[in-house]
Amino acid sequence: CGIVAYVGSKPCLPVLLEGLKRLEYRGYDSAGVAVLRPAHAGEAGPGVTTTAREVGRVMNLENAIAPRTAGFAGTTGIAHTRWATHGKVTRANAHPHAGVTAEGLTLSVVHNGTIENYASLRTLLQNKGVTFASETDTEVIAKLIADRYDAEPEGGDQPSPGESLSGFIPSTRLERATKAALRRVTGAYAVAVVCDANPHELVAARKGSPLIVGIADNGFVVASDGAAIVSHTTAAVTLADYQVVRLAAGPAGSTDAAGERHAAAWADPLHTT
Ligand code: GLU
Repeated sequence: CGIVAYVGSKPCLPVLLEGLKRLEYRGYDSAGVAVLRPAHAGEAGPGVTTTAREVGRVMNLENAIAPRTAGFAGTTGIAHTRWATHGKVTRANAHPHAGVTAEGLTLSVVHNGTIENYASLRTLLQNKGVTFASETDTEVIAKLIADRYDAEPEGGDQPSPGESLSGFIPSTRLERATKAALRRVTGAYAVAVVCDANPHELVAARKGSPLIVGIADNGFVVASDGAAIVSHTTAAVTLADYQVVRLAAGPAGSTDAAGERHAAAWADPLHTT
């Protein structure tokens, strides 16, 4: 029933938990969070996802995280309070839900709303060998994005022939996979998506369920409701139906693959398509 997500230069966990508490008034039956951090030396993949989900109050989630906060030390994350529509109130049905790509990357998704064609999409994916861990309509989105991620070529895209290069912002594989998946669903959704492939990238989209993007001086906060973000942001943008945004952060002082230092800037401030 509520979404909070953050990408930026600050630890995300306090922003996410505070946001969830501010959304408690909307009502919910369970809560969850997934945090993405860069892999340490010796760990596989560009990023590592740590997830916690609990039935009941946000307090229960906080208590579950408390003994293992080290795993949640990333600066990108998504969080959710659930009001069950498809599937019982269980930890397995609580969000975030995950999909795994052929390369073994984990994609995590939080979702508000209901997916009308989830049963046929679920069957389609099961026929491709995908196994489901929950009864929710939401897990179909996560698994479908992973499926479409596999179908998308690596890297950013190119301008179409004749299109000007100036101002062209290539969309990432995660953004394209999310769009391809959402084109196949009917129903209402607000979603926030993260993937191990890039621990500083967040994709958000909506149709029929509210979602806003708050702009802070240290990053972006996405939420289903302004109450969750007012204390962090200076300005906010309400997403339109069918809008997909990619929000990315280059933490101040961080070093990119080319060895160049990012000033304090966002690699891609607000790419709206
Ligand atoms: N339909 C999803 C579920 O049952 C999302 C419900 C919500 O908006 O919290 O898990």
